[in-house]
Amino acid sequence: MILHWNCPLCNSASLKSSAIDTKRKGPHISRVQFDSCKLVFVNPMADQQELLDYFRITMKKLNRVIQNLFQVIEVSF
Ligand SMILES: [Zn+2]
Repeated sequence: MILHWNCPLCNSASLKSSAIDTKRKGPHISRVQFDSCKLVFVNPMADQQELLDYFRITMKKLNRVIQNLFQVIEVSF
């Protein structure tokens, strides 16, 4: 997890909470906005390992869906 205390764009430390995405599952659901430049971004950000873990799990799920689709297609023809 990477927690930003300063804006990565303008280096301002004046941030406010913007939103939390409670419907989406994943490692990065909270948003902040910096007053000076109005940049909205995910904070804390997922680090490289969290992203790799997240995408590996997502790819496994997608592969299962694709395999199931191929099985359906094979049965249909
Ligand atoms: Zn900024």
